[in-house]
Amino acid sequence: MARLLLTGGAGFIGSHTAVVLQQAGHQLVVLDSFSNSSPEALRRVEALTGQSIDVVTGDLRDPNAVERALAHGVDAVVHFAGLKAVGESVEKPLLYWDVNLTGSRVLLEAMAAAGCRTLVFSSSATVYGIPDHVPIPEAAPVQPNNPYGRTKAAVEQMLADVAASEPGWRVASLRYFNPVGAHPSGQIGEDPLGIPNNLFPFVSQVAVGQRPHLKVFGSDWPTPDGTGVRDYIHVMDLAEGHRAALEVLLDSADQQLTLNLGSGQGHSVLKVVQAFEKASGRPVPYELVARRPGDAASTVADPALAKELLGWSTRRGLEECCRDGWAWQQANPSGYR
Ligand code: NAD
Ligand code: UDP
Repeated sequence: MARLLLTGGAGFIGSHTAVVLQQAGHQLVVLDSFSNSSPEALRRVEALTGQSIDVVTGDLRDPNAVERALAHGVDAVVHFAGLKAVGESVEKPLLYWDVNLTGSRVLLEAMAAAGCRTLVFSSSATVYGIPDHVPIPEAAPVQPNNPYGRTKAAVEQMLADVAASEPGWRVASLRYFNPVGAHPSGQIGEDPLGIPNNLFPFVSQVAVGQRPHLKVFGSDWPTPDGTGVRDYIHVMDLAEGHRAALEVLLDSADQQLTLNLGSGQGHSVLKVVQAFEKASGRPVPYELVARRPGDAASTVADPALAKELLGWSTRRGLEECCRDGWAWQQANPSGYR
């Protein structure tokens, strides 16, 4: 059993990881500003696991807030907090550099001061930009093509520099592919504010009748059906990947890991639409429109290294992603509100 701090633990990935970590016997502290989440998510995590969470409401960039969170006697940190919308990062780059990079620096300084040197970081497949080849191994070039991806690549670099500067650091940068789905209970899930940027929440809002149709961004990509291909990973598989990474870190001396968390399977936009229609029994009307600027044709993980080093691989497929995402959407048409 370890005492773990989850920054951004009330968010989509953090809340699902909280369930898995509590069920594995760990005790949790969450630091969250609730700028993109609701305290209700944490209440539901507690209801699912029957265990309480210590919550510190505050901003990652505020050293006092981070210090208060670490004062709970933390063995390791899982660092989810940050901003994640690619389009917004193009419009507000300084905000992204501030929250994602400065926030991570404040966290690392406070960790060093508190003598806590074990960290799992939420990185992203976005660091690969437009990949030269798929599936993408971790050794592929890091060439992010938007400010969001550049902040993630910079934090990875900062972590490597810190880990090299003194012994005792154990860090893992986990490059997530496309997290989707929800806890199978339908009690917690993804709750985007406003119009969703991402495919899955958009499709589920169309299926539930909140939006008239999906716009499919590009039907002339060099893919089997012409629409974009992504590696969708069930959020519970992703949560289990964090548990595996933490256990490896807590069991080792100095350690630096950079790992893809993906399924290794690619699915096109039209395949997702069909799978969601099947899972929900509802039609998902769509319109083929122009490509979205900055998109890649296909991004699919090579998940072999995570399997080798963590003994972890995904167990759930597209069908479960749609089934569980739909259960959440149906039970919570307005999210946590
Ligand atoms: P999310 O927005 O649901 O969760 C992020 C959490 O961080 C929220 O609870 C938010 O309130 C909190 N937060 C934001 N800024 C904060 C600040 N300054 N101080 C304290 N708390 C703050 O996002 P998510 O989908 O759960 O993503 C978690 C992490 O994973 C992020 O770092 C994101 O960049 C990364 N990631 C997400 C995806 C994805 O598609 N969801 C893919 C790759 C990587
Ligand atoms: N996509 C789409 N319509 C939407 C949102 C996304 O056709 O409203 C496509 C997008 O072009 C990409 C795939 O769905 O091919 C996944 O997009 P998402 O934004 O979810 O993830 P990312 O592009 O960041 O991997």
